[in-house]
Amino acid sequence: MVKLLPDGFLKRMEKLLKSEYKLFLETYNIPAKRGLRVNTLKCGIGDFLKVFPYTLSQSPFCKEGFYLDSELRAGAEPLHHAGAYYMQEPSAMSAVSVLDPQPGEMVLDLCAAPGGKSTQIAAALKGRGLLWANEVVRQRAGILAQNIERCGIRNAVVSCAKPSDLANALSCFFDAVLVDAPCTGEGMFKKEPEAIAQWSEDNIRFCASRQTEILLSAAETLKPGGRLVYSTCTFAPEENELQIARFLSLRPDFELVDIGDIISFGRPGFSWDEVKGFSNDSEPPAFHLEYTRRVFPMDGGEGHFIALMRRVSAPENFIGGYNYNLKDQNIVPFNKLYGEVFKAQPFGIAQTIGNTVRLLPENLPELKGLGVISAGVAGAEVLKNRLEPCHALFMASEYGECKSVLNLEYGDSRVLSFLKGEQIEAPGCTGWIAVAVEGVIAGFGKASNGVLKNKYPKGLRIVAE
Ligand code: SAM
Repeated sequence: MVKLLPDGFLKRMEKLLKSEYKLFLETYNIPAKRGLRVNTLKCGIGDFLKVFPYTLSQSPFCKEGFYLDSELRAGAEPLHHAGAYYMQEPSAMSAVSVLDPQPGEMVLDLCAAPGGKSTQIAAALKGRGLLWANEVVRQRAGILAQNIERCGIRNAVVSCAKPSDLANALSCFFDAVLVDAPCTGEGMFKKEPEAIAQWSEDNIRFCASRQTEILLSAAETLKPGGRLVYSTCTFAPEENELQIARFLSLRPDFELVDIGDIISFGRPGFSWDEVKGFSNDSEPPAFHLEYTRRVFPMDGGEGHFIALMRRVSAPENFIGGYNYNLKDQNIVPFNKLYGEVFKAQPFGIAQTIGNTVRLLPENLPELKGLGVISAGVAGAEVLKNRLEPCHALFMASEYGECKSVLNLEYGDSRVLSFLKGEQIEAPGCTGWIAVAVEGVIAGFGKASNGVLKNKYPKGLRIVAE
């Protein structure tokens, strides 16, 4: 594998790592670390470990994170379809551990697709507050929205907007912002050979300047006192410590927080003396760059960099709330339908957007003009003379909240049939029924005469091989 790596990259790594360089090279002889994170919005860690049939071992990067020590095709796995877990490189879970979102906070994930870190933030929010997940590339934003739905997230907005547009519209709005920046991806070389093909010193410079722009937009969206986490999966100092030095020189209203005081995985970032050979500046920054954090393959992950900053002052700014339309004619029928299927009241504010009644989180800002492709949870589709519940509504609901559940054991042949979109037997069931795998809701159907008409969305079905 080392033979495939660009010479320029190897020279730079030797200059950066010095005596550890040999050890670093040896890590290319072992396969990339794989991992998964249990989605605690859908099931407890203990319950998951009892039924998951593959070998796992605890990762140091977050308590829900595990190394996966065997081959697994997630696309064919019922518990993956049910949103019980998210496949994620172990060290990629470290950035959200540092961001440490709290229930009730307003959190922005600015570069969010495919959604590993967004779904981790949502689990930490426990359904309270807001996750705003943004992805600038339209096709990737669609995948992000799918993952948000699969993981049963109630309190998210998914948008496809330029960071600068969000900065203009959502000034001082968020308590915490994550910038998981597009980068040269040197930590992904084992997994993504195209990252090797695209590597060049010019690309490092291009990525670094794009990262500065994104960070400056992110800074605008933070409330005073708010936290900004910047992360990459690359090793180049220009995209990591030196990027932070540049940002802090442009934004004196931010300070760098010592991550070593918060977590213990990985190692401190490089000091100015260690990275100044990669910089065009001769002046050392006024901050301890080693307050940042590095994870190298020698530290149990494929490679990550994380910096935590706090906005210490900001201008006063007012953000208007979302104007809910209280005359919405679908609200009464929606509440009736909801009451037929669930035991409690709807978990969000019901509102028709297009031909869907959605359950929206509270305290949304004005959404127009921000490329929003999904907000809250799709509750029901408005058909000609009736409403029909949406898959997302069941995915975002817990077993105990549903009036009627067909709960299937992992090995029941009906699990696969359901995920293929086939009718299945449902003795004694009538009407809208949630379908669960080992207690985790995976979808729904409509039952009559002991048979369940399948409502598993066509695009998500397992295709028979
Ligand atoms: N946070 C994601 C996760 O955990 O699944 C991974 C994000 S990936 C490292 C960086 C993302 O930034 C990509 O999805 C990419 O499309 C997006 N991106 C590319 N150019 C961008 C730009 N100019 N501004 C904002 N995001 C950009």
